[in-house]
Amino acid sequence: MFPKDGRTTLTVDDIPKKWYNIAADIGSPEILNPATMKPVTAADLAPVFCKTSVEQELDTTHRFIDIPDQVREAYAQFGRVTPLQRAYHLEQYLKTPAKIYFKREDVSPTGSHKLNSSIAQAYYNKRDGTEHLTTETGAGQWGSALSLSCNYFDLDVIIFMVKVSFDQKPFRRSIMETYGGTVYPSPSPITEYGKSVLAKDPSYGGTLGTAITEAVEMAVKDQTGKTKYSLGSVANHVCLHQTVIGQELIAQLEAIDVVPDHMVGCIGGGSNFAGFAFPMIEKKLKGKTDTNFLAVEPSEVPSLTKGEYRYDFGDSGEITPLFKMYTLGHDFTPNAVHAGGLRYHGMNPLVSELYDKKIINAVSYNEDQIFQAAVTFARTEGIIPAPESSHAIRGAIELALEAKKKNEEQTIVFNLSGHGLLDMVGYANYLKKSKHPVIEV
Ligand SMILES: *Cc1c(COP(=O)(O)O)cnc(C)c1O
Repeated sequence: MFPKDGRTTLTVDDIPKKWYNIAADIGSPEILNPATMKPVTAADLAPVFCKTSVEQELDTTHRFIDIPDQVREAYAQFGRVTPLQRAYHLEQYLKTPAKIYFKREDVSPTGSHKLNSSIAQAYYNKRDGTEHLTTETGAGQWGSALSLSCNYFDLDVIIFMVKVSFDQKPFRRSIMETYGGTVYPSPSPITEYGKSVLAKDPSYGGTLGTAITEAVEMAVKDQTGKTKYSLGSVANHVCLHQTVIGQELIAQLEAIDVVPDHMVGCIGGGSNFAGFAFPMIEKKLKGKTDTNFLAVEPSEVPSLTKGEYRYDFGDSGEITPLFKMYTLGHDFTPNAVHAGGLRYHGMNPLVSELYDKKIINAVSYNEDQIFQAAVTFARTEGIIPAPESSHAIRGAIELALEAKKKNEEQTIVFNLSGHGLLDMVGYANYLKKSKHPVIEV
């Protein structure tokens, strides 16, 4: 007998028509120009990002921003509305009275939520006259999404991929190249910054911070203004684009009459969590819900739980502006964790502000803990989750086990930000050494 609820039937017509800009409700800390320590202006950012990205980054007045039709069409082609699904078998396995739901951002062609912003950014860049985009990628999800999107809107893309991932995950590179992207390992010998880093340490494995410096350098050096930079997380405009997730989710939950007690997401730069949670946080700010929001990060990269809330650079080479955010320091070099998408030193300023105001909570787990959750999820629900997303799964499982202790029928929703089918090296390493690959209950 198959359970009937837990899946909703929204169609492409239900793809949101606007993005939700939480900065209009909570404000956003000023971004500072490090040379003057004054707030950056649109003119300061113009050499880096296309015009519309700059406007959206600095917008603290419009609560809702129209999603262009061409972007909604691409969202539809690439899998939106994404399903909301109930994790019945995980619930049964945990013997918990809690109900667990998950939003399936893993069903996109590139396997993660990142297309939500790459489609928008490729569209605006094309419209604003950009011909070449540069970007960085950690594990390759952002580079894959941007390559697909640039191919769709007819733009060139050059991707600096963190070298450890470039070496560890060769198939990610093939995906980007299949969609027409050009990929360099970072540090690379094709930028001044890359050359300077390699001169100091030819075997340096790179970080997102280093790759960002290289990508920004290449964009601002093009005097014609036809090369711009595109960022896959951390920035406010990226979080804005991701809010399609949370708005769809609210409609799906309303359709089945569910009000979540907990919403859980993993955080690297903060974009999938922001997109998933901000629309519901709007309701919380208005006193309409009491949902607990939980952000889960790796204990190897604990920006919220162990970082400092202060101004810091977004990159290692100190060429970006200063952002007020929770940070581990822009020269932080994390261990080569398998959740490559979570290795960034800082956190989106809006997510940082919400954490500082205690509107959201945070917790961290180590790699064994998250792979244990991942394998538990795979063996109950059949889906192999991305190591990044498995942080959210661990968070959700812990809440479900607490609900069991208190015998409370709580509702937990987590964001499955991506699948893990390209992360099997991480799984293989874990399975080889682990005596208890699943969470025992
Ligand atoms: C990139 C990525 C993340 C982390 O980035 P955020 O901006 O924090 O969302 C999480 N999960 C997956 C699957 C990713 O690809």
